[in-house]
Amino acid sequence: MINENRLLNEFIELVSVPCPSKDERAEAELIMAKLRELGLEPVMDKANEKTGGTCGNVWAYVKGTVPDAPTLLFEAHMDSVAPTTGTKVVRKDGVLYSDGTTTLGGDDKVGVAGMLEAVHALKEDGVAHGDIQLLFTISEEIGCLGVVNLDKSWIKANYGYCMDIGGSMGEITYAAPKLYDIYVTVKGKAAHAGIAPEEGVNALMLAAEALSKLPAYGRIDEETTFNIGVFNAGIGTNIVCPEAKFVIDMRSLNVPKLEKLKDDTMALIKETVEAGKGQVEFEVVEGCPAVELSKDHPCIELAKRSAERLGFKVELKTTGGCSDGNYLCGYGLPCGLLATGMSNVHTTEEYLKESDLYDTARWIYETVKVAAEK
Ligand SMILES: [Zn+2]
Repeated sequence: MINENRLLNEFIELVSVPCPSKDERAEAELIMAKLRELGLEPVMDKANEKTGGTCGNVWAYVKGTVPDAPTLLFEAHMDSVAPTTGTKVVRKDGVLYSDGTTTLGGDDKVGVAGMLEAVHALKEDGVAHGDIQLLFTISEEIGCLGVVNLDKSWIKANYGYCMDIGGSMGEITYAAPKLYDIYVTVKGKAAHAGIAPEEGVNALMLAAEALSKLPAYGRIDEETTFNIGVFNAGIGTNIVCPEAKFVIDMRSLNVPKLEKLKDDTMALIKETVEAGKGQVEFEVVEGCPAVELSKDHPCIELAKRSAERLGFKVELKTTGGCSDGNYLCGYGLPCGLLATGMSNVHTTEEYLKESDLYDTARWIYETVKVAAEK
């Protein structure tokens, strides 16, 4: 049984430790100490050699008693967005807040605390279960750097659950987009704007013309989005603009559709710019792979069964956001995202219902239990 008091105290302890991205060492050491208290042998990997952070990802393996049950991996990230140092938890009417000067850090300590308490309770209750892998990552908030730089051969699980998404208990996200960032540089030719404008090629205007020809932006359709959030150009009012740069963020749950959108967009920009005697360069950065599970994938079915058993209202969802779960899927681990209730994240108004903290731990506990049943 989940021990609410113990879980609450542990949550408060975890969010009280400073844990900015790239400097999660204190948090990681606290988590490793707690894992050792549970009789586990946590290991820290060396992902920080690539990220430049103060510690690596923390892994732990809980040996099960039911050998033919699937191995489940639960994952949460250790870092929180700033301001995150000196967090003091305020309890009010069954809801947890910060004192207003920092984020609460429920993103993602609700996942961390929930995983620790679930394993604690499973051991205490002597529940029969399969093997469990726990993964606590670094620097999720600045581009999922911990999971991007982990050694995928360390993943031993059949199914994964990323405990890092808002929403009500019972909400299961089975699809998340693949993302491309396309860095576009349009090159024209500088000239004096007053004396010889005809000798110049205005890159800013060519970029604007190309963008005005895009058939759509914003929400393209139910599963696809397209944004230009950065545009830089120009060096002086009296100079024909020689260079313009902008960045496209495009995402889709439908990977073939995304590939076509990428190719079509680049072709349209190239054609327009070249027709105006400019040149264009593209740098395509693959942001993250997609989460592409079907609604009846065994990984999703399992989370659904355990949620139903707990009386949660099950809802299968998709998201337009990217998380560590995308990368775990990219490594070949089917990984769903389970709602943890956190709200107003990335602001000092972040809050978490106490009941959602307890139910997050219950959901993990129950999923492990159900997975070992015949
Ligand atoms: Zn998060």
